[in-house]
Amino acid sequence: KASREPYVQFRTQHREELQRRQRIEEELRRALDTDRSQLEIHYQPIVSTDSGTLVALEALLRWNHPDLGSIPPAEFIPLAEQSTLIDKVGAHVLATACAEVAATPELAQIMLCINASRRELTNGEFLHRLTATCEQTGMNPRSLCLEITESALAPLDGGLLNLLREIRALGIHISLDDFGTGASSLSELYRLPVSILKAARAFVDALEERPSARTILAGIVDVAHAMGVRVIAEGVETAEQAATIAAVRCDLAQGYHYGRPKPLAEIVTEGAASSAP
Ligand code: C2E
Ligand code: CA
Ligand code: CA
Repeated sequence: KASREPYVQFRTQHREELQRRQRIEEELRRALDTDRSQLEIHYQPIVSTDSGTLVALEALLRWNHPDLGSIPPAEFIPLAEQSTLIDKVGAHVLATACAEVAATPELAQIMLCINASRRELTNGEFLHRLTATCEQTGMNPRSLCLEITESALAPLDGGLLNLLREIRALGIHISLDDFGTGASSLSELYRLPVSILKAARAFVDALEERPSARTILAGIVDVAHAMGVRVIAEGVETAEQAATIAAVRCDLAQGYHYGRPKPLAEIVTEGAASSAP
């Protein structure tokens, strides 16, 4: 039968992929417009490497579609980023996460980290969105941190650099996400108003296989500290990795070893349980 031909098979697969992407885009738009209960924010703990105490939470979006089931952000975020849909997604996460965290007195000292895509940064109203959200939710800008990937900053033109400075001037922190995976620009760091550098999971993974990865990470931490920048190691899964990143003086750590992303209520209950006498 003709449909068994490799080319036809390929074409069919390709068509199915396109259809799924289209469907996801439509359904995501529908969810944002008419049924936001499909969208839920989970929070992953970021802890201090020396005391193990909770310092920050990263907001990570979860999407549970009634028919399609749970769709991973790695699938729908890149799709949303190809259109202006990411703007709606980002605004939703910012408003919801700020409202949830600001309404939780137990988290008053905890920093909230939110991912921001390039298209959001450059939409012309991002700064206003940040100030308005902080005002409306009671979120303290000094407890807010935007995670921006290195690749989202390229190319870094004067307009974007100015925006970053204006964001920083509001008191909001900026962290350089997935650091060490792209065309890493330790040399460009001095230009950027970043408070935090997040060493990518791939970097942490390499620690076990390559002794040089540890040396490089130690060097990055030293340079960051010299500039007053703190370092988070992300994707820490094992006790061994946890020991290594602490040994090279990473300030903070995030990963399954410390806790998976989960609803805010669970984080608060656990915190209450662990601080109980
Ligand atoms: P990211 O910003 O690098 O987030 C970290 C990802 O690593 C999360 O995946 C998290 O669940 C996962 N992770 C954390 N610890 C570990 C670990 O120890 N091992 C492993 N294997 N994975 C770990 P998630 O939640 O699936 O998100 C994937 C990506 O989607 C994020 O990568 C981020 O780029 C994007 N994303 C998620 N939520 C948002 C959002 O609200 N806005 C934007 N713009 N992007 C988002
Ligand atoms: Ca992130
Ligand atoms: Ca990351």
